[in-house]
Amino acid sequence: MIMTYQMPQLPYANNALEPVISQQTMDYHYGKHLQTYVNNLNNLVPGTNYEGMALTDIVATAPDGAIFNNAGQVLNHTLYFLQFSPHPTESAPTGKLAEAIQRDFGSFENFKKEFNAAAIGLFGSGWAWLSADKDGKLHITKEANGSNPVRAGLTPLLGFDVWEHSYYLDYQNRRADHVNALWSIIDWEVVGQRMK
Ligand code: MN
Repeated sequence: MIMTYQMPQLPYANNALEPVISQQTMDYHYGKHLQTYVNNLNNLVPGTNYEGMALTDIVATAPDGAIFNNAGQVLNHTLYFLQFSPHPTESAPTGKLAEAIQRDFGSFENFKKEFNAAAIGLFGSGWAWLSADKDGKLHITKEANGSNPVRAGLTPLLGFDVWEHSYYLDYQNRRADHVNALWSIIDWEVVGQRMK
């Protein structure tokens, strides 16, 4: 099998995000869950209309089904794992992203409050996303299961995974504690660079 779709290479060790995300969670979430989505996608796409299509385009256009679910989760987790740093240089957004957050949410604190409410309030498995539309306006959305804001023509900037597999080993049912802890490991430089 040709491995067209690849695992993101992490710029940190599996234990580097502790105590926010434990090594055990990284070993399962990155090493097992994401690897399975990548393997599934590599198995599913050959011989279909999606062969040779960029991952983002598959997620934007594929109908609900196995290819969409696995492509969505490969895109989601690639953005997710690459947005973290054990030692972020900034504790809040800077530059263009900071200005857009101020404009569209009033303040960084209010943005976090609204984003936390989306992540904590999402029923079942899914994601909370910050994304930008074609005019640069920011949006917070809840996405069920493996979906992603690219399906609505938005550019995803920051995503919190609230599937239980992302936090249950470390936080059990305390999703809010996990969500609140994630802010301390966000690499705002990476997130800001995702704005077009
Ligand atoms: Mn996940």
